[in-house]
Amino acid sequence: MKKIITTGILSILMFASNQSIALAQEEPTKPHETEIWQPKPKVVTVDSETKIPSDAIVLFDGTNFDKWISSVDSTQVKWILNDDGSMTVNNRTGDIQTKRNFGNIQLHIEWRSSPENTGSNQSKSNSGIFLQNRYEVQVLDNNDNETYVNGQVGSIYKQSIPLANASSKTGDWNVYDIIYHQPEFDSEGNKTKSATITVLHNGVLIQDNYEIKGTTEYIGWPKNMAHGDAPIKLQDHGDNSRVSYRNVWVREL
Ligand code: MG
Repeated sequence: MKKIITTGILSILMFASNQSIALAQEEPTKPHETEIWQPKPKVVTVDSETKIPSDAIVLFDGTNFDKWISSVDSTQVKWILNDDGSMTVNNRTGDIQTKRNFGNIQLHIEWRSSPENTGSNQSKSNSGIFLQNRYEVQVLDNNDNETYVNGQVGSIYKQSIPLANASSKTGDWNVYDIIYHQPEFDSEGNKTKSATITVLHNGVLIQDNYEIKGTTEYIGWPKNMAHGDAPIKLQDHGDNSRVSYRNVWVREL
């Protein structure tokens, strides 16, 4: 008897709960039923001159290397600070990286190749932007310069061919706008979610929410050692690339 009563109550409760789901899913008949008013998105204003969003962290504004260190030995950056608000790779002084670590970000960075660099293949103004110190978005001058397409400008190095080559002319400024979500790992260090990356090159979509397979290795397959927040790194390719950067800012997502 007790069992019958309990089952009966359970059935009534399940019926009631199904009814409420059915009610919630009923087609709205009035405009306000599908309006959401809270929470309000935060207000972000964009500077009319610099175009930098109000909540961005400026990593390089042309005046100093305060936000950066040498990746070689964590000492002062030895790259060249130019009068025009840019910096240039100082050959063989090593990569540079942000002092601060980042997770999910929106990154704006401008770069240009050098007309004086007459190399070919991977040696024509090669640099790169490494998200979390390990995932490279390739910087390369591919104007009149063939290379393997998964290593060309805008590639996720040796992993993802860009959807287009949207390069500026040699010596003109390029813009990368990057949206990056970091990978996730479980407590045993196994990857449970891949990092994703979207890249706009001069406003053209060249990487569309690509799932990064692991580290962007020069030789070998991608690796997936667990990691947390990490710096943004800029590459000194070591072959007199003369690549310059300017106007670097980031928004944490
Ligand atoms: Mg590179």
